Amino acid sequence: MHERVINCRVCGSERVVRLGAPRYRPPTKVAGVPIRVDDLDLSLYRCSECDYQFVAPVIPQERLLACYRESSGSNWKTDPQVDAAIVNQRYYANKRAVLERFSPGRQVLDFGCYDGGFLKYLGAEWQTAGIEPSTVAAGIAAGHGVQILGPTIDAVGAEHNASFDAIISFDVLEHLPEPVATLSALRRLLRPGGVMVVETGNSAALAWRLTGPAYPYCGIVEHVGFFNERSLGVAGRRAGLELAHFQRSCHTRTPLWYYILSYPRAAVYLALRALRRLRVPLPEHLDVIAQGGFPATFGDQDHFIAVLRRPQ
Ligand SMILES: [Zn+2]
Repeated sequence: MHERVINCRVCGSERVVRLGAPRYRPPTKVAGVPIRVDDLDLSLYRCSECDYQFVAPVIPQERLLACYRESSGSNWKTDPQVDAAIVNQRYYANKRAVLERFSPGRQVLDFGCYDGGFLKYLGAEWQTAGIEPSTVAAGIAAGHGVQILGPTIDAVGAEHNASFDAIISFDVLEHLPEPVATLSALRRLLRPGGVMVVETGNSAALAWRLTGPAYPYCGIVEHVGFFNERSLGVAGRRAGLELAHFQRSCHTRTPLWYYILSYPRAAVYLALRALRRLRVPLPEHLDVIAQGGFPATFGDQDHFIAVLRRPQ
C-alpha cells in the first residue's frame, strides 16, 4: 500500500503535516441538511510552506452543493429586519467601515450573500449584487433588490467582468475546496483597484493552535480550508490580488460568561473523551459529545477581516 501524496491547495507544496481527523459530532449535517462523510477518511493538514490548513480528500462538490441548495433559507441569520440584534452581534458597522475605507466606489457584489441581509443593511446608496447557491435564500435576497448573478462563480457570464468596486465575502473562504481558483475567478469581476473584503476563521488564534482538529470551527463539515494572515497573502498573490489590510476580529458578539464557562465545559468534554477511549459505556447524548470537538470557543478574537486588492 502506498501513501497518497497530498498537495497544499493554496501553494501546491508537498510539505504538508497531517494534524489528525476533524472531530465531527454525529449526525453530520451541512447547512442543516444531513450529509454522509464517514466513507471519505478525512484528515486535517497544515502546509509547512504557506501555513494553510485544509481537509483532504475533497468532499465531492455535488454532495455539498446538494445540501446548500436544499438549505431552508433560515440556517444562518443575516437580515437586520428579521433579527435586529444581528447588526450588533455580527459587527455590521465594523464591516461597513472597512468596506467604505477601501472600496473605490459603491458597486458591491456579495459572494455567498445568503438572504442579502448585509447588502440590505448597506442601504440605498450602494448598488448590490450577489452569488448564492441556496435557492430559497437567493430568492429572499432578490426580493430585497439584490441582483442575483447565479448560484456559483462558474455561472457568472463575462458581461460582468471588471464591473465591481468591491466584493464582500463573509464566512465563505472556509467553505472553498479550491480557494486560489475561486479568488482568481472573483478577481476578473473586480475593476482594477477594486477590493475583496473577507472575513473567516483565523487558524493562528491561540486556542485554535492548541486544540487543532478538535477546535470547534474544524468540527463543521462544510469548513474545508482555514486561513491566517500568511496563507491568505499567498493565496491572494497566486490569484493576482495583494493583501492590503488585515485585522483580527470576532465572529459573533458573545457575553463574557460564555467564554468563562467554556473552560469547565472543556474539562467535562475531555473527561468524556478519556472515558470513551477507555471504552466505558456512556449514555448516547454524552457519547455524541465525546465524539465531537471542544463544545465552545475559548476567546472572541478567532476570526479576521482582510482586504485583497486588484492592482491598478
Ligand atoms: Zn501551502
